[in-house]
Amino acid sequence: MGFVESAGSVGKYRFGRAVGEGTFAKFRLAADVETGGTVAVKVIDRETVLRNNLMHQVKMEIRAMKLLNHPNIVRIHEVIATKTKICLVMEYVSGGQLSDKLSCLKRLDEREANKYFYQLIDAVDYCHRRGVYHRDLKPENLLLDTRGNLKVSDFGLSALTKPGQLLSTSCGSPCYIAPESYDGAAADVWSCGVILFELLAGYLPFQDRSLTSLYRRISRAQFTFPGWFTPLQKKLILRILEPSPIRRAKISDIFDDKWFQGDYNPSRTDDDNDGSSDLEEVSTDSESSHASEVREAAELNPEPGRFINAFQLIATCCDLDLSGLFQEQKTKFGSSHTLQETLEKIRVAAQDVSLSMWRLDSSMVKLQDSRLLERSIPDLTLLAEVIEVTPVHCIVEVSKSTGDLRAYREFCRSLSSLLNGEQQPGSSSDLEVNKSE
Ligand code: ADP
Ligand code: MG
Repeated sequence: MGFVESAGSVGKYRFGRAVGEGTFAKFRLAADVETGGTVAVKVIDRETVLRNNLMHQVKMEIRAMKLLNHPNIVRIHEVIATKTKICLVMEYVSGGQLSDKLSCLKRLDEREANKYFYQLIDAVDYCHRRGVYHRDLKPENLLLDTRGNLKVSDFGLSALTKPGQLLSTSCGSPCYIAPESYDGAAADVWSCGVILFELLAGYLPFQDRSLTSLYRRISRAQFTFPGWFTPLQKKLILRILEPSPIRRAKISDIFDDKWFQGDYNPSRTDDDNDGSSDLEEVSTDSESSHASEVREAAELNPEPGRFINAFQLIATCCDLDLSGLFQEQKTKFGSSHTLQETLEKIRVAAQDVSLSMWRLDSSMVKLQDSRLLERSIPDLTLLAEVIEVTPVHCIVEVSKSTGDLRAYREFCRSLSSLLNGEQQPGSSSDLEVNKSE
């Protein structure tokens, strides 16, 4: 084994070279001095975790991983806490990330794409049955072993991303994020759909330089298939990349799908023999083991809104892009209100500057100068579109079709103060404020 030793060890593991770097952790190769086996150790700096208030997230990742024992999920062996470090000792997966393979080969041939997708769905189904929702499925978090089998990794730490980094990370996670993020199961299925598209196409279904435009594409599932996709592949992807989490295919629908069944060969799971003897906190009695799994799962399923994705984050920043006021005549706002409340605020802002509002559809309105309606050419016409990010987060995009800039700016200022005015964006009292209005 090409194990390069460097200083340090923890427990019975002697550290070797670095194999990867996470947002808040370093991955080191290590040798188990008792068995001679190789493991990967995720070394998390205790101080950093405490400073960033992330202990809960780290515990969640550990709990999630301990619940999972599946051939397509990176296995955790043990957790060692020292005075300064938290070490997650894991199975070493040596074949690199699926994303590296994709960037070398561009697209994969159908058989290989099928194999990875089968293994991914198997693993995700297994997680969901245990109440674990990954929430950050993307090729960077899918590792490959020496035999070319896929292993899902990086549980729970997705939420460890520093707030500032989430926005500046060009297109890392957002491209795989479902329009909604409050339904863990449906959101994971969506990400699997994006991954399947990417495996077969060699590029992402949703891409845009602007996060708001990217979100619009995602929320409407605006994407086109390349010519080589077969009707069966298209059918399955369309069922998965369905904006409504209720209408979206469930894992069971994917198992029943004709293309999926093509040559599906379920992974062997270590379910019956859960192999957890090396883990603390796992009961040997199967009944109570299940009960504790369910309890742990409940803890792992944060209430809606607990996790925040990049889009929710931008929706909590009001006055997203005011540059449009001066150049493109297109302005974006974040709103920590429901779609209906946001539309009502648009109506009030319009009234403030003597504009009337017409609903064009459920999320798009036209605003025109009410005093000048008799004229054949209205002085000012604005379009406002409200994109729902979560039940209580929207993005508003206002664009000017005709008319002078002054009135447009006045309307934008009025709307901005209405959206900002009464409360801090994202505060828990948002809804109460609205109710009492
Ligand atoms: P981040 O929080 O930055 O996403 P990850 O947990 O995804 O951190 O890990 C970062 C990188 O470390 C991975 O992309 C991978 O290259 C490497 N890595 C993680 N787990 C393992 C493992 N079990 N075996 C080998 N390499 C790993
Ligand atoms: Mg990762």
